[in-house]
Amino acid sequence: MKALKRFAMVVPALLIGATVAMAEVTPDVPEVIKVIKKAAPDNAAIKPEDMKKVDEALPKAATAKPAKAHKVLVLTRVAGFQHSSVGLGAYAMVEMGKRTGAYEATVSNDLANLAPEKLKEFDAVILCNMTGHWLEPKDNEVAGLSALGKDKAEITKAALASLLAFVDSGGGLMGFHSSSDANYEHPEFGKLIGGWFDGHPWHEKVQVKLADPTHPLLAAFEGKDFEVTDEIYQFKDPYNLNNIHELLKLDPSTDQIKKTKRADKDCAIAWVRDQGKGHVFYSSLGHREEIYWNPVLMKFYLDGMQFVLGDIKADAAPTQK
Ligand SMILES: [Zn+2]
Repeated sequence: MKALKRFAMVVPALLIGATVAMAEVTPDVPEVIKVIKKAAPDNAAIKPEDMKKVDEALPKAATAKPAKAHKVLVLTRVAGFQHSSVGLGAYAMVEMGKRTGAYEATVSNDLANLAPEKLKEFDAVILCNMTGHWLEPKDNEVAGLSALGKDKAEITKAALASLLAFVDSGGGLMGFHSSSDANYEHPEFGKLIGGWFDGHPWHEKVQVKLADPTHPLLAAFEGKDFEVTDEIYQFKDPYNLNNIHELLKLDPSTDQIKKTKRADKDCAIAWVRDQGKGHVFYSSLGHREEIYWNPVLMKFYLDGMQFVLGDIKADAAPTQK
């Protein structure tokens, strides 16, 4: 009875991501959760039953054979609104790489990874629901970031320049959901992602249209429009169809579209773009945990990942010339 009571007290503490030595009480906890917990304790509130659902939904094989072994950095650095799905998103992307052999991923929330010498160890970076001014170090981080600069302004500038140079020279970039709700003081960042968050008029089941039905990165949807329940964004400049290749959009023929303030009623949900020699894939889905155990969406994310890694070739020319 005593042991049971103790267990009952420990489990809720784990679920809310408290700083408990997980290995001591749950010896079967996957290595990736220990890593997420160490790298980003605030983002580690992952429920074991959700992890199981992700495990069952993930693709079993890579879509394209990787040209080489790829290393991917999953960043979970949050400086604004904290989504509860950050940890699960990171878990899904790490496990996806492991199960399909498409890449090997490391999770971190440390800005030091953006130092050019460190960043060049990776082939792609995933911005997993990172909100706010995350390019700026916190006071207690400055001393450990001398590879980027000596003060906050220098470090922020160098981190952004390094990320831009990484993509320009062929590095891949993948962004989920609120990664477009970040770093508003840096126009180059908004352009890199492809647009900035401008509110979410919808958090409901929506009708999603394939904007380019035969595009290779939309193979998961087999040419069919679909429904999904999530928080759906509208975007503002630098979002522009002259700057992105639109893949998914809110169906403009539905009544739901009336909620947007955009005059053109163009509410993209996913897109790709090229910048220099690098590829960028962005999807605004991922507010809700269940996005990461939707098998069709996970196949779409795998294909997006293989696109930014250069293993799937796909048209990323702007939708409007
Ligand atoms: Zn959200």
